[in-house]
Amino acid sequence: MADVPAECNIKVLCRFRPLNQSEILRGDQFLPKFQADDTVIVGGRSYVFDRVFPTNTTQEQVYNTCAKQIVKDVLCGYNGTIFAYGQTSSGKTHTMEGKLHDPHQMGIIPRIAEDIFNHIFAMDENLEFHIKVSYFEIYMDKIRDLLDVTKTNLSVHEDKNRVPYVKGCTERFVSSPDEVMDVIDEGKANRHVAVTNMNEHSSRSHSIFLINIKQEHVETEQKLCGKLYLVDLAGSEKVSKTGAAGAVLDEAKNINKSLSALGNVISALAEGTKSHVPYRDSKMTRILQDSLGGNCRTTMFICCSPSSYNDAETKSTLMFGQRAK
Ligand code: ADP
Ligand code: MG
Repeated sequence: MADVPAECNIKVLCRFRPLNQSEILRGDQFLPKFQADDTVIVGGRSYVFDRVFPTNTTQEQVYNTCAKQIVKDVLCGYNGTIFAYGQTSSGKTHTMEGKLHDPHQMGIIPRIAEDIFNHIFAMDENLEFHIKVSYFEIYMDKIRDLLDVTKTNLSVHEDKNRVPYVKGCTERFVSSPDEVMDVIDEGKANRHVAVTNMNEHSSRSHSIFLINIKQEHVETEQKLCGKLYLVDLAGSEKVSKTGAAGAVLDEAKNINKSLSALGNVISALAEGTKSHVPYRDSKMTRILQDSLGGNCRTTMFICCSPSSYNDAETKSTLMFGQRAK
C-alpha cells in the first residue's frame, strides 16, 4: 500500500474573504495586513498560523496547500477532520463546498471527491474499495440525517472497539465523484425543505459530511480503513449584537457551548500533554473523537471577514484559532 505519511499535528489555516459589495458601498475599511505566508496583522496585533490565505487565494490553491495531503493519508488508513470556523458570511461554506458544479469555484469537499477516485483508479488493481458517505447536521444538540428526513434525533453510540458513531445514520455507497455530488445535492435539498430560512438555519447548525474508505487486498485479504469528517460549523458570532431573546438566545447559547467544547478539545490536543481531552462535553466532539488528535489529520480553517465593520468578530475568531497553536 502507499507510503507512510509525515508526522501528524493540528494545522490551523486562516482565510480572509474579499470585501463584499455592500461593505464596499458602506465605505468599510479593509483591515488585514498580510505578512509572509503565515502572518496577518489586524488592529496592530499579529496572528501567526500554519498558513494565512489572503483574499485573492483561489479554491485550487487552498485545496492543494491543505487538503490534498489529507486525502492521501486517509487512503493510507488514517482518520482526519477538516473544519471551517468563523462568523456567518465569513466564507466557511465557500471554503468547504464552494460552488459544487463549477470546476474553478468548487471547494474542498468536491475536490476531495474527485481526488479520492483519481487515486483509486491509479492504485493496485488487487485492492477493492468500498466508499460510503453520510451527511448530517447538529442543531440544538440534535443530530438530523440530511439523507433521510424522517431521522431527526439520532444518537451517538460506541461500537465494540469503543469507536463512536451516529447510530442509524444513512450511509450511501458511492463509486464516482458524480455520485458523491448527487448525495451532497440531495442532502442540501432536504435541508432546504425542512427549514423556512435556509441562511439563518445554516448559520445555527453544524453540517457534517463523512467519507468512509475501506480497502481490501483481494489476495492477502489485508484490510485498511480511513475516514474523513468535513465540518461546516455554525456561525461563531456573539448574539448580544442583535439583542436576542427566547428561542434565538437558546440557539446562541447552544452554539457557544458546542463551539467552546470544540475549542477546548483542540487546545488540549494542541498542548500535546497527556492531560484529559474533554471529548465528552458535546455531541460533536464525541462523534469526532477518533478523528481528532492522536494519529489523525486535523485541519481547522479560520474564516474571516476583512471589513472594519466586523472588527470585533474577526479578532475573536483569530483568537479562537490561536488557541489551537
Ligand atoms: P459562511 O458559510 O461562513 O456563512 P459563505 O461561505 O456563505 O459564508 O460566504 C458568504 C459570501 O461570501 C458568499 O456569497 C460567498 O460566495 C462569498 N465568499 C466567501 N469567501 C469568498 C472568497 N474567498 N472569495 C470570494 N467570495 C467569497
Ligand atoms: Mg455557510
